[in-house]
Amino acid sequence: MSERFDRQILVFGTQGQAKLGAAHVGIVGLGGIGSHIAQGLAFLGVGTLTLVDDDRVEETNLNRLIGGVPTDAKSHDLKVRVTERMIRSISPEAQIRVVPKNLRSREAIDALTECPVIFGCVDYDGARLVLMELAAAYEVTLIDSATEIIQSENQITEFGGRVVVARPGDFCLDCAHQIDMEVAKQELESLEIQELRKEHGYGLGHRGTAPSVVSLNGVLANLALNEFLAMTTNLREPKRHLVYYGMRGKVNAREDQQSPDCYTCGFLVGSRERANLYRYVLPNS
Ligand SMILES: [Zn+2]
Repeated sequence: MSERFDRQILVFGTQGQAKLGAAHVGIVGLGGIGSHIAQGLAFLGVGTLTLVDDDRVEETNLNRLIGGVPTDAKSHDLKVRVTERMIRSISPEAQIRVVPKNLRSREAIDALTECPVIFGCVDYDGARLVLMELAAAYEVTLIDSATEIIQSENQITEFGGRVVVARPGDFCLDCAHQIDMEVAKQELESLEIQELRKEHGYGLGHRGTAPSVVSLNGVLANLALNEFLAMTTNLREPKRHLVYYGMRGKVNAREDQQSPDCYTCGFLVGSRERANLYRYVLPNS
């Protein structure tokens, strides 16, 4: 094994390092958090990565997109391509599968069902719901991260985020109360139904541009990476739900339990094709 990993082998041994090299990890969403996670996984020496995102680089991403440079924004390159280049520059031997598709495509769903671990770095509850169901159905561990910056009358009142480690049959985003099911269902409706809803004055209001800062993304991305490391190298059991409260400078490991009669943690686990994830596939995706 190359000397590149000497200092971390002092932490989790050659066996732990070998487990990282053998790991296959998916990342969904290569924005502010996902690109941080990709960088960390490359440094750690994770052997195989599957990258899913159909989004392209904009100039407004350049305050936080790890590996992104101004020419990427000018040419509107795919974020997965920028991340692939960044991973290769750190870890040339990594196997990288690039899926420049929306999560709601057959190609993305099929690629993700082959990943034993997925990092969820998505912005919408609809996408979180699809990932939650996919992870349970195909017995994938989902490590889901999100940041939040709350403003009131031009004042920041809170900033922080959370990481949920959802292992099949143990815990899920629904048990953690981290999906607004009503919002998720509306986001997953067909465009026709969404339009109809808007005409009648219902539905999701316009979402403003969300604030985003590289350092906050880094905190949550690295909390998620540490839980992945703890789990993969058997350092300790991963925490199910970590919350970062930026105003207080505090990280709290919540003692969450599985909800009794949770549909995802019960019925969906191992259901594979019967979960019918293709019903979420968008036309022309
Ligand atoms: Zn659950």
